[in-house]
Amino acid sequence: MIPSLATIADLRQWRARQAGTVGFVPTMGALHEGHASLVRRSAAKNAATLVSIFVNPTQFGPNEDLDKYPRTLEADLRLCEQAGATAVFTPDNAMMYPPGFATWVTVEGMTDKLCGKSRPGHFRGVTTVVAKLFNLAQPTRAYFGQKDAQQALVLTRMAIELDMPLEVITCPTVREADGLAMSSRNRYLAAPDRQRALALFGALQAVQAAFKAGQRDVPMLRQAGLAILTPSVDRVDYLEILNAHDLGEITTVQGKALCAVAAFVGTTRLIDNVILGG
Ligand code: AMP
Repeated sequence: MIPSLATIADLRQWRARQAGTVGFVPTMGALHEGHASLVRRSAAKNAATLVSIFVNPTQFGPNEDLDKYPRTLEADLRLCEQAGATAVFTPDNAMMYPPGFATWVTVEGMTDKLCGKSRPGHFRGVTTVVAKLFNLAQPTRAYFGQKDAQQALVLTRMAIELDMPLEVITCPTVREADGLAMSSRNRYLAAPDRQRALALFGALQAVQAAFKAGQRDVPMLRQAGLAILTPSVDRVDYLEILNAHDLGEITTVQGKALCAVAAFVGTTRLIDNVILGG
């Protein structure tokens, strides 16, 4: 079994022993093929690959699913090993956030949109924990999924603007055979809800089809997606089309646009996205 590093001291010792490049894949566990794809990508390019498994409390709002977030450590360790990871970092809350913790990392502007609008404080938690993990792991490259498109953009920006000496790499979304984006939260879905959840990708495909047919008007493209999404889910959080580089508002798709969707199926909040054009 690959080493499971439970403390910051363990991680620092492991890091000091690495002579070559280190790839890093931060996760919250409950791992699936989407995570495995990031680990494989890192393992192919770096001498060592570190995966972190930490359900970060500071990125969850008071009424979100922190307490019931799936925890499957044994299976996660096996998946990491099979995908080519060299070590796994599994800190606990007290280690990451000792009493009196008061330092936060914030990317402004971009984090007010999309998920940031409906989950206030979420991205502050993400950027803070990932900045800490970067300082601990000191990776050469860090791998994130396009599934969480806004997160990938925010973290790329954080790394650039804080002059962090690493490369942030965004990898494609891995989907189930029927198109549902893989997510740890899919485990919450009973069969009928799992079926209804397909409307997220269905809506994105409808937007893509309209785009391919020549539609460039953002309100019209949104309408094509919402016509599929709204009847199937319990609540649409957002379906938006924004500039794919900076999440700026657009009314017509000209360059690369991000079409991103978030919706509740039962009590489960799901997200997905596709890129249009570019
Ligand atoms: P999470 O454990 O959900 O915080 O995700 C950890 C990393 O895996 C993030 O960079 C996610 O974007 C990425 N990820 C999650 N699901 C997928 C997926 N279906 N395809 C590709 N990457 C994913």
